[in-house]
Amino acid sequence: MAQMFINGEWTEAYSGETIPVENPANGQEVDTVPRAGADDVEAAVRAAQAAFPGWADTSPDDRAALLRKGIRLVEEQAGEITATLTAEQGKPTFEAKGELHHFLHGMEFYACLASKLRGAQVPLPPALGKHAYGLVIKRPVGVCVGIVPWNFPLTLMGTKVGPALIAGNPIIIKPAGTTPLATLKVIGLLNEAGLPPGVLQCVTGAGGVAGEALVSHPAVRRVALTGSSGTGQRVMELAGPDFKRITLELGGSDPMIVCPDADIAKAISGAVIGRYWNAGQQCLAVKRLYLFDEIYDEFMQGLVEKVGRYQAGDPTTRPEKPFIRMGPLHTAGQRREVEEQLADAVERGARVLTGGKRPDGNGLEKGHFFEPAVVVGVPEDSKLVAEEVFGPVLPVWKVSSLDEAIQKANSSRWGLGSSIWTRDMVWANRAVREIDAGVTWVNQIHYGYDELPFGGVKASGLGHEHGPEAVEYYLESKGAVFGGLDWE
Ligand code: NAD
Repeated sequence: MAQMFINGEWTEAYSGETIPVENPANGQEVDTVPRAGADDVEAAVRAAQAAFPGWADTSPDDRAALLRKGIRLVEEQAGEITATLTAEQGKPTFEAKGELHHFLHGMEFYACLASKLRGAQVPLPPALGKHAYGLVIKRPVGVCVGIVPWNFPLTLMGTKVGPALIAGNPIIIKPAGTTPLATLKVIGLLNEAGLPPGVLQCVTGAGGVAGEALVSHPAVRRVALTGSSGTGQRVMELAGPDFKRITLELGGSDPMIVCPDADIAKAISGAVIGRYWNAGQQCLAVKRLYLFDEIYDEFMQGLVEKVGRYQAGDPTTRPEKPFIRMGPLHTAGQRREVEEQLADAVERGARVLTGGKRPDGNGLEKGHFFEPAVVVGVPEDSKLVAEEVFGPVLPVWKVSSLDEAIQKANSSRWGLGSSIWTRDMVWANRAVREIDAGVTWVNQIHYGYDELPFGGVKASGLGHEHGPEAVEYYLESKGAVFGGLDWE
């Protein structure tokens, strides 16, 4: 049985209860983890409170050195960590390696930033004293909690751990109940580098129990959630009474617009990677594709041919080129949800051009496999549009003007990512200005760079992760005023 990491030690839950972790590709149990309750959360929060003053006082260079040492330890164990990630999450090995690489890149980014954080000195008006000036001092917020979903357990843990630690805060991570194992290995290694007990902890358990206990604990000052919009609403409710600082990275339904002058081959690759990476279980996935009439037929031919190259199968193996491995969906419930969304669209007249069913043979029925689909004729009020589709199904529509494309792009309750594919700078600028989303990519796949702030608008959330901007959410700006020296 794997254990969780509280106050510098591996431990079971006080209750002794556990949660089984299953391999989505074959239904076998990978391991079990403790099912934490309120008393385990209490122990972790107390340890974090005790660690806070010492860590806040540790010099930025020393914090960065510890992070770097941890990064090297994680790199040394990369093979075992990615194998664990594939076993618990279902993503193919090459995608798991990509995720670990992204995590390490992000952690390195924050280690480099640790000694570059600064406040400000501001000259003040002389009315209350000549030569008065103000300082803007940055202080760590206190005990932080990071709640992470199952689709990218490592990178989305890193986007919280990196900025929290360099800003001088302790942080408690709660991974999703179904993907705690690679996270525990990484948190163990980051601690082995020499972090003081209580600075970086991991509590495993259910969102409704351990997650809620963490969010509502009065000593927790800051909560970073990545998850669904419904969980975001609940976290807001729980964090509200104590005025905790929160950031919410939530669901999305990213539109992608392809204009008549686009590089079609590149745009097809962008749509395929954008929609089907991680079996479509991405917040930033291309979830609505709008093609101009002029390029519709050429694009659809290339798209359907490329999507047909996916082969569902064992995520630890790779098929011969040109075939591409697609792993299973993460859970049986996740697959059922996608199947229901697709069935609803078909009942209302949509047509499936490829995929859209469970593959059989080769033992695939033991996992949650699903053939990636392309769908046309999808009514705007069907579940495939109104709900977030967290699986490999891509609805496509024709548009005949940029106005129509932008209006359709904006007709969603979400506003996370978006993209436009065009060589026309005027059109690109209009899309960047007018699409209601946290990010608009121009001629690029939907990818969250460590260097840039990332976050959603509307039902996609509040605040930002990534970039130097993320660190601000882990700091309080305090003003200090030094009166003038003219009273002698
Ligand atoms: P989820 O909301 O069910 O769970 C996310 C995390 O929240 C898990 O650790 C879960 O245990 C915890 N949780 C659940 N209920 C809770 C509660 N009441 N109190 C406290 N914690 C609770 O989401 P999921 O199914 O794991 O992940 C998929 C969702 O995450 C999708 O909607 C996806 O778009 C979103 N997501 C967003 C981003 C982004 O950056 N915007 C990135 C990845 C995933």
